Amino acid sequence: MRSRGNRDGGVPDPWSFLAAELPDVVLIRERIKEPGRYYDDRRAIVLRKGLRIEAERRYLWHEIVHAIRRDESCHGWARHTMERSVEREAARRAMPLAALQAAVEQAATWHDIVWLMKVPEPWVRFRMEIAHPAERALLREARRWIEETA
Ligand SMILES: [Zn+2]
Repeated sequence: MRSRGNRDGGVPDPWSFLAAELPDVVLIRERIKEPGRYYDDRRAIVLRKGLRIEAERRYLWHEIVHAIRRDESCHGWARHTMERSVEREAARRAMPLAALQAAVEQAATWHDIVWLMKVPEPWVRFRMEIAHPAERALLREARRWIEETA
C-alpha cells in the first residue's frame, strides 16, 4: 500500500481547516467530561485533553461544523436531531468522496481504509452508511471488495 498526501486524495486536516477558514475560533484543550464543546459567545472549541489523535480529529470536525453554523452551544448529545445533522456533515467533511475513492484504490484491507481515513473505525462505517445516492455506486464497489479480501 502506498501512502499519499493531502493533495492527491488524502483526508483534509481539521487543524489546518480551522486556522484557514475560521481564524477567529480558538481551540483549547481542557479536562472536560465530553470529548468536545463549542461556545459560540467565546468562539471557542474545547476538546478533552488527552484524546487519541484519531478521536481528536473526529471531535474537532464535529465542533468545526457547530462553529460554521454558529450553533449557540454543543452540550454533548442532548439535542439529538441537531447533533445527528452535525455528525453527518462532520463525517462528510472529514471523509470526502475523493478521499474515500483514493483509499479504496490504495487499500489492501478494510483496516487500511480506516487507517487512511485517520478517524476511529465506527466513524468510517457511519460515513459509509450516510452516503448520498450518487456515492453509493462507489461504496458498493468498496463493500464488495472488502468482503472479497476480508
Ligand atoms: Zn455537537
